Amino acid sequence: MEGVVVVGGAAGLSAALTLGRVIRSVLVIDAGEPRNAPAVGVGAHGIPGREGMSPLELLRLGRQEVAAYGGRVVSGRVAQVHRAGEEFSVVTEDWQRVRARRVLVTTGLVDELPEVSGLAERWGRDVLHCVYCHGWEVRDRVIGVLGSFHQALLFRQLSKEVTLFLHEGAGLTEEQWEQLAGLGVGVVEGRVGALVVDADRDRLVGVRLVSGWWCRFRSWWWRRGSWRGPVSSTVWAFRCGRSDGDR
Ligand SMILES: Cc1cc2nc3c(=O)[nH]c(=O)nc-3n(C[C@H](O)[C@H](O)[C@H](O)COP(=O)(O)OP(=O)(O)OC[C@H]3O[C@@H](n4cnc5c(N)ncnc54)[C@H](O)[C@@H]3O)c2cc1C
Repeated sequence: MEGVVVVGGAAGLSAALTLGRVIRSVLVIDAGEPRNAPAVGVGAHGIPGREGMSPLELLRLGRQEVAAYGGRVVSGRVAQVHRAGEEFSVVTEDWQRVRARRVLVTTGLVDELPEVSGLAERWGRDVLHCVYCHGWEVRDRVIGVLGSFHQALLFRQLSKEVTLFLHEGAGLTEEQWEQLAGLGVGVVEGRVGALVVDADRDRLVGVRLVSGWWCRFRSWWWRRGSWRGPVSSTVWAFRCGRSDGDR
């Protein structure tokens, strides 16, 4: 029987390391699909001592460190956890069963991406979700923010060329309009239908609105928005026009 079974990735490895160092028997079961896996190219940031390292390499090293203190790390997906009296029974998808005194669940989050054509393919590359994780990489670039007034303000600290696409969000208050105007943040109304990619250079170059308008830019940021309804717009950072062609 194990002392503790940890289900999950980076957070779980941190716990396993700490437990291993106080000589607890630990088994980590991880399906190996960390949330930040798409960011392999841009690296994991804000991690002292490992700044910019590939998130998968970070996990590989973490597993080694856990093993160095006697912890075991196995690949697998936990399907069931049962409590049986004083202990737990952990069952994996392939019907391996482990008994443990404690179970620590650190299974992380799964991102629900908005339904914008082409967005999922760019996720973690030039479609980014966090100013603290990737702001430095897109500083001083033309940035589009999808549906979040708050994040438009955050990204404005990194670039003078920020445009907020309201997408499916609600209207801005008078105060928010004034704030954005004062900071020179452009606002585009209407739903974004698709991202436009330069296939030759493998990079994001703009968006196409459902209405037929297109806007060209270089970096893109997304966050689940909470706004709804159209707002009249001005566009500052992006070159926009009407086009039926593939521009
Ligand atoms: C694109 C992107 C980039 C990011 N960049 C950064 C960054 O630069 N810096 C930063 O601090 N944060 C970044 N983040 C946030 C980052 O994802 C988290 O900091 C980190 O991954 C959280 O670690 P975690 O262990 O909680 O979850 P995860 O890393 O998601 O790990 C959870 C693990 O649990 C496993 N799992 C889930 N269910 C089961 C199951 N039933 N059985 C077994 N295993 C299971 C998964 O396969 C996964 O390996 C980024 C996020 C995204 C989406």
